[in-house]
Amino acid sequence: METREKIIIIGGGFAGLQLAKSLNNKNKKIIVLDKVNHHMFQPLFYQVACGRIEPSNISFPFRKIFQQSRNTQFRLTEVKEIIPSQNKVITDDAEFTYDKLIIATGCKTNFFGNKELETKAFGMKNTQEAISIRNHVLMTFEKLILEKSRSDDGNWNIVIVGSGPTGVELAGAFSEMKKEILPRDYPYMNFNQLEIILVSSTEKPLAVMSKEAQDKSEQYLKELGVKFMSGEVVTDYDGDKVYLRSGKEIPSNNVIWAAGVTGNVIDGFPAENLVRNRYIVDRFNKMKGYDNIYAIGDIAYMETPKYPQGHPQVANVAINQAKNLGRNFLRKNKSEWVEYEYKDQGSLATIGKHRAVVDLPFIKFQGLFAWYFWMFLHLMLILSVRNKLAIFFNWMWSYFNKDSSLRLIIAPNKKNSTQQ
Ligand SMILES: Cc1cc2nc3c(=O)[nH]c(=O)nc-3n(C[C@H](O)[C@H](O)[C@H](O)COP(=O)(O)OP(=O)(O)OC[C@H]3O[C@@H](n4cnc5c(N)ncnc54)[C@H](O)[C@@H]3O)c2cc1C
Repeated sequence: METREKIIIIGGGFAGLQLAKSLNNKNKKIIVLDKVNHHMFQPLFYQVACGRIEPSNISFPFRKIFQQSRNTQFRLTEVKEIIPSQNKVITDDAEFTYDKLIIATGCKTNFFGNKELETKAFGMKNTQEAISIRNHVLMTFEKLILEKSRSDDGNWNIVIVGSGPTGVELAGAFSEMKKEILPRDYPYMNFNQLEIILVSSTEKPLAVMSKEAQDKSEQYLKELGVKFMSGEVVTDYDGDKVYLRSGKEIPSNNVIWAAGVTGNVIDGFPAENLVRNRYIVDRFNKMKGYDNIYAIGDIAYMETPKYPQGHPQVANVAINQAKNLGRNFLRKNKSEWVEYEYKDQGSLATIGKHRAVVDLPFIKFQGLFAWYFWMFLHLMLILSVRNKLAIFFNWMWSYFNKDSSLRLIIAPNKKNSTQQ
């Protein structure tokens, strides 16, 4: 007869994984459910998309992570519904009961209901999508060998929509690929005609960062030859052309959508539990109206005097909400529970080699030192020494050789393909 409290965590992202670690080998039974079999380090997806690092360097199998744990189990399964009145979770292949439930499902790409965009443009919210971008962009150049005329009409342009850190980092990386790698791989093609275009609804890139970071990143994009289209809103995309509200059209077969995210909400809760597709929680991450259900990370909406519109959807908030909740779960009395308070530790972005912008609470800086700082911080955050070394090696290799050898086109097995 199991006497330990049974805690189910849906999602092993930054929040869910941290909570499982905080409760590791404690007197509780932990079951982590995730629809993919690995934890993903999303901040470096853009480097997978550009062939700078291998997906396996930033993807960590859950079963390996929990190998040594005495109280944590993992199940690869997608949660479809929660029945709070029965303390039950329904997945695509099983049912689980719980004493406590933690929802840590994060976000997915928000195409704002535009089905054409959703089917034809690429999001970048999981490892598979990052690999798909790499495949698709590389295939564009392979196909051009047969359809030479397609480059003349601009179809090979790479268009990135959204100028937050992800969009800016992608644009910088693709422009370096255009300069340093593609001309060597395809010596007979004239890459001067290939445009890397960053479409932004705001006037400056990195609108969430300081004015210094915005100005500097705009300058960096220019130096790298990225065409920055400010104050433009994408209204549609038919697979060949991107349509803007201003009436302009951009020919492109490679469109990456980095213009917003929305919560991975699961059926089972009334609409009044949600604000902008995030579950409303109190300062202890407990869901409104339930005693044993919690939400943490991107999917949680917590209002505090400092953040009356909810917290930013960043890794730091996810990790620290999980740490706080884990500590609270281990306290003997609920009266000892501590409220969550976000301490903003700043933000940063890199725009190609030697160029980065850093906003810390006490100092802002840009340039070479910011780039080293960005690399150091990301290496520290990556799980496992082996992956840190592999990424460091890849970065150094491409730094000195201005090249990378990670350009495999990994297409789905024909047996499973619908195009047979
Ligand atoms: C491209 C990119 C770059 C980013 N760069 C930065 C950065 O530089 N700095 C920063 O602070 N933040 C960055 N972020 C944001 C950061 O990654 C998120 O804030 C963070 O991942 C949130 O953690 P989470 O645990 O809430 O969700 P996630 O990390 O997204 O994890 C959610 C997990 O839930 C699983 N899941 C979802 N639905 C289900 C279901 N129904 N059933 C089972 N499992 C499910 C998913 O598979 C996933 O493993 C970036 C995000 C992206 C996409």
